[in-house]
Amino acid sequence: MGEEALRSVDPGGIEVFSSDLDAFRAALTVENRTLKRALTDPRIISGIGNAYSDEILHAARLSPIRLTRNLTPPEWKRLFTATRTTLQLWIDRFRTEAKAKFPEHVTAFHDEMAAHGRYGKPCPTCGETIRRIRYADNETNYCPRCQTGGKILADRGLSRLLGADWPRTLEELEAPKR
Ligand SMILES: [Zn+2]
Repeated sequence: MGEEALRSVDPGGIEVFSSDLDAFRAALTVENRTLKRALTDPRIISGIGNAYSDEILHAARLSPIRLTRNLTPPEWKRLFTATRTTLQLWIDRFRTEAKAKFPEHVTAFHDEMAAHGRYGKPCPTCGETIRRIRYADNETNYCPRCQTGGKILADRGLSRLLGADWPRTLEELEAPKR
C-alpha cells in the first residue's frame, strides 16, 4: 500500500503523546461532544477505546457526559494529564506483563482498572459504588462521587423500568435540546 492509500485509511485523530494541551483541546472541541464520545472517536484522538476512556475520565474526575466546550481551563489540564498518565500506565503495565507471560486472554477489561468493568464494585479511590450507562452493545462505567458530584446518570436499563424519557444513546445526549 502506498503512503497515500495509508493516509486515506488513517482516521486522522491526534496522537496524545506528540500533542500539547492546546492541540488536545483544539481537537476535542472541534465539535461539542460528550467527553466519552470525543475521547473514543478515532477521528478526534487516536488509540483510546471504551476501557481507557473510562479510566481516563475517572482519573481526571470528570463526568463522561460533560460537553467538551463546557470544560474550564483547570479541567482541560486535568483531562490532558490524566489521558497521558493513564495511557502510559497501561502501556507500561502490559509491557511488564508481556515479559512475565504472554496473556492468555487479551480483553479490554483488566483487574486493576479503577472504573471500567467494575460496575457494582467499590471505587478504589473513594469506596462509592461504580455505576454505568448502558447503550447498544457497550457501557460506560464511572464513579458518582469522584466524577459527577454524586449524581447518578441515566441508565437505559433503569430508565426503561421507570418509563422515563432518558436518552438511550450517547448520541442522543449530545443532540441539541429543544
Ligand atoms: Zn470514587
